[in-house]
Formats: sequence, structure tokens, C-alpha cells
Amino acid sequence: MRTSQYILATLKETPSDAEIISHQLMLRAGMIRKLASGLYTWLPSGLKVLRKVENIVREEMNKAGAIEMLMPIIQPADLWQESGRWEQFGPELLRINDRHNRPFALGPTHEEVITEFVRKEISSYKQLPINLYQIQTKVRDEVRPRFGVMRAREFTMKDAYSFHLSEECLDETYRKMHQAYCNVFERLGLDYRPVIADTGSIGGSVSHEFHVLAESGEDAIAFSSESDYAANIEKAEAVAPSIERPAPSKELNRFDTPNAKTIEELKEQHGVKPHRGVKTLIAYGAPNENEERGLVALVVRGDHELNELKAEKLVLVDSPLEFATEEDIVKATGAKPGSLGPVGLTMPIIVDRSAAVMADFVAGANEDGVHYSGINFDRDVTNYVVEDIRNVVEGDASPCGKGVLNIKRGIEVGHIFQLGTKYSEAMKAGVLAESGKNQIMTMGCYGIGVSRIVAAAIEQNHDKYGIKWPTALAPFELAIVPMNMHKSHRIPEIAEKLYADLQAAGVDVLFDDRKERPGVMFNDMELVGVPHTLVIGERNLDNNQVEYKNRITGEKEVIDLDKAIEVLL
Ligand code: ATP
Ligand code: MG
Ligand code: MG
Ligand code: MG
Repeated sequence: MRTSQYILATLKETPSDAEIISHQLMLRAGMIRKLASGLYTWLPSGLKVLRKVENIVREEMNKAGAIEMLMPIIQPADLWQESGRWEQFGPELLRINDRHNRPFALGPTHEEVITEFVRKEISSYKQLPINLYQIQTKVRDEVRPRFGVMRAREFTMKDAYSFHLSEECLDETYRKMHQAYCNVFERLGLDYRPVIADTGSIGGSVSHEFHVLAESGEDAIAFSSESDYAANIEKAEAVAPSIERPAPSKELNRFDTPNAKTIEELKEQHGVKPHRGVKTLIAYGAPNENEERGLVALVVRGDHELNELKAEKLVLVDSPLEFATEEDIVKATGAKPGSLGPVGLTMPIIVDRSAAVMADFVAGANEDGVHYSGINFDRDVTNYVVEDIRNVVEGDASPCGKGVLNIKRGIEVGHIFQLGTKYSEAMKAGVLAESGKNQIMTMGCYGIGVSRIVAAAIEQNHDKYGIKWPTALAPFELAIVPMNMHKSHRIPEIAEKLYADLQAAGVDVLFDDRKERPGVMFNDMELVGVPHTLVIGERNLDNNQVEYKNRITGEKEVIDLDKAIEVLL
């Protein structure tokens, strides 16, 4: 590909609304552009990376015996009514009506559709087990789309669904898929961890999430210091013994919303005041006075002893104000039941007793007493890192009985479930068993966030100059950068020849044939993250040589022109 005929679309400046490095670099490297909140256009080089992820996933799924198909994005509401999720799913399910006023949903996931397909198509035990997958666009009307494609409203997922007649059979496929996921993340060259996950509202018994470790991760995962135990924080909490937290030193009970300030402003203004024993805080209230629906809850969490306190979650509890119950807020924030103050008030209040002192920081308390600076509850707030607040914290005894918990941040890139009969029972998906009787099938489901992986890979592979793609994902394998091509005869000649030879050798080459200064070209190739670069300049050509640069190792080497192809192959 020639840059002059391509849409490189690199940006010099960091876009101000991009908070995390992968989002910034995906915009700057010309991989994506925002259309609207949570909706992104993939530019050519972004798309190339996305396809590479897709293909690795596809190959590993095929190897594991899953069969590819493709289901519609638009799904009839009656299937969702049948499974009970039309009501349950809430506002994340984007609903539409067709011209006949019939209700539909844009698929956030496809359990209903696949179950409908299988109950019609599979009739005998002889056709089981079967594992079907697709790589498809998913739509979720996320309450807070953010971080670019990391949490988008439209994204690419690989979702697989398996059908069985026994738990043992399900278990076997589940294990195969677990291994296939490990293979995918190994091939992608990512630092990842499978962790035990809580099955939560999806139901079922066994579940694992796959996390790419990254500071910017929205999830927390707990590791035992002395065993292989690794769980997402929800699961760790679900099995952890309840722990007494120290009592607060001061009670705070309201924020001053008119003078609302962001956490960053408060930090600046008042500095961080560490307090012992404070782990979490939840404040909640109306998004603004005119809002009819919805409470906003803010969750703050951090390591007070290290002076690192962060507002970590801002959630909308979607109930009419007067009807928001404690259960709604517990569900939305992950707060410990019973830890909440009065619910349903229009003024934000601090609720977790054990955490109330932390509000000193949030509210900006001073030595003379409490000064309620307040939190900006406007939904414009973007300075928060989202995390589920939990009662399990670093240093707690590990639920496995060995060692203490270390907590790290992760990006959820995959999630597998043993679903059991939740959908097949609700939708009466049975087959003729060997006994001659009809038997409800048991199911597994297996998701991978294909587009999220692209962003997660950048979180782990970058430096101050840009992206450092692992070879498996790079949009181009090699760049040819001719210096001052238009001022020379032999440079374009040699560059063209090298370009043709490399292409003929099957190398995916980006030939930077723009009339740009060399510095601009080098910066762009580093930003885009092309792993190998050949620089063609007059001085080296005098000795029939070119310069080779490796983006990952930073190594530079002058090599003979006639060896340029061999060196790379
Ligand atoms: P999250 O906890 O991040 O909201 P989830 O648990 O709701 O994700 P699943 O239903 O388990 O997601 O979907 C399977 C995979 O799809 C996730 O592991 C994740 O990688 C990806 N995914 C989910 N939501 C999004 C999104 N809004 N944007 C991009 N990828 C997503
Ligand atoms: Mg989600
Ligand atoms: Mg999740
Ligand atoms: Mg999940």
C-alpha cells in the first residue's frame, strides 16, 4: 500500500476527550473515528487489525470444533419475551419498532436466537453435542460508553453456543473452549489471566472471565499470594467471609450540588487526606433536579494509605426517583446490602458507613470541620474510572484459604459460561433422547470481545511514540521510508523496486511515498506501529545499503540492500 493512495489519517495532537492511552492512540494512529457516543467508524488500518483478531479467533474456534454461522442483528421481541429477558435486560437492550409497529431488539447477545434456531433444527440426540458460533456486531445501549471501542454501543463479538444432553458433555466442551481462549490470547501475545467469575444474573453454575491485565482496566481481579486462585472481584466477594470494617470518624450526609466539582478539582483544592480503614464509598442522588427518572450513584475506592483515592464508578439506577429501592442501588453499584442510608431522596447522600470518612477527601473536608464541596452529578462527568465497588480489598484473606489477596486491574476480553437449562427450558428446546423421550438440552455460551481486544492490545503494547504492535496484529508488517524521494533519482527507483520485491515475497508493505519530511514519516510509522522499517537514504545507498529499524526492540542496523528481503523473512 502506498501512503499517497491510502487514508493514513494520523493526528499530531492527542484528542482531548480520549482518556486512556489506547483510545488516544487509536484516534491518533488513524484507526477509528467517532460518529456519535459509543459508535465508531473503523478506518482501513484499524479494520486490518480488527480482521487479524477476528481471524485468530476464527481459527481457534474452528480448531476447537465450533461451527461458524451468522445470525441477524435485529431480533423479534417475542423471543426475548419467551426467555423473560425483554423485561429483565433493562435499558441496555436497544428496542425498535418496524413499520407495522412490531417490536424488535438490536441484539446485545444471541442466546434467544440460537435457541430458537436449534429447537427448530436439531431434533435428535444423534445431532448432539453441537457448538455454533458467529462473529457479529452486537448492540448494547451502554449507560456510559467510554474509552473508544473498549466500551462501545456497537462492537464486534465472537459468540458461541453449545448444546448437550448431559453435564459431563457440557463440561467437556467448556474445557475445550477454555483452552481455545487461552490459545487465542497466547497467539495475540497478550498478558492475560483466566479468572473464576460470578455467574450473576445470567445464571448457570460455572463461569470464567478472561482478563487482559492493564492499569486502565475497568474490572478488578483478585489473586491469592500463595496459590493459583484467581477470581474476578465479584466472585471473590461472593465467597469471602464478611469482614468488619473500622467505624467512620465523621458522619457526612450530603453534598452541595450547586457548587459541584469534579474529583480532580477537589483533589487540587484540598489535597488528599488519608484515613485508615476506608475502602469504599457510595454516594447517590438525582442526576439533576429536573430529572424524572434515575438516580446516579458514585462509588469511590482506593488505597488511602498510598493517598490514591479515585472516584471509580458512576452509575445510573434506572428507576423513577420515588420508586428507587435499596435493591435497585445494591444491584447497580454492588454495594453491600444493608450498608445503604435512606434511599429515594433527591439529594445525594453518603451511604456506606464504613466509608464515610473517605468522603472527607471527596467532599474536601478541612481541618476546621467538614466542608461539603460536592460532586458534580451531571452526566457529563468523565473523570471517573468505573469499577464495581466491593467489600473485598487487597490484603484480605484469600477465599481459597491460602495467602492474602492481591488485587489487579483487568480488561474483560472474554467470558464463558455453563448456562445449564436457563434458556432451553424457558424456550422449550428439547430433542429426542436415546430413551425415546423428549429431553431439554443443556447449554454453554462463550463470548470474546473482538473489537475490545484491539484496544486492550494497545494498552499493553505502546510507548511514548505510539503503538508497538505484536507481529500477529500489526496493520502492516513493514514500512519503506525513502528520505527526500523527490530530490533524488535513485531513491525512488530503489524504493519502488524494494516495494515490488517485498510484495512479491508476500510481505504486507506500507510504502511511504508522500512528499513529507523524513521526521514526519518516521513519526507516523512509529505512531501506527509498523514493526519493521527500511529507511532508504543517499548516504547508505552509496554503499548499497539501507537502514533497518525494529519498532519493538528499538534496534537499528545498516544492512546490504540485496539482503533486505532475506533479513526480514
Ligand atoms: P462488561 O462487564 O465489560 O460490561 P459484559 O460482562 O457485559 O462486559 P459479556 O456479556 O460477558 O460482556 O460479553 C462478552 C464480551 O464482549 C465481554 O467479555 C467483552 O469483551 C465484550 N464486550 C461487552 N460489552 C462490550 C462493549 N460495550 N464494547 C466492547 N466490547 C464489549
Ligand atoms: Mg456489560
Ligand atoms: Mg462483565
Ligand atoms: Mg461478561
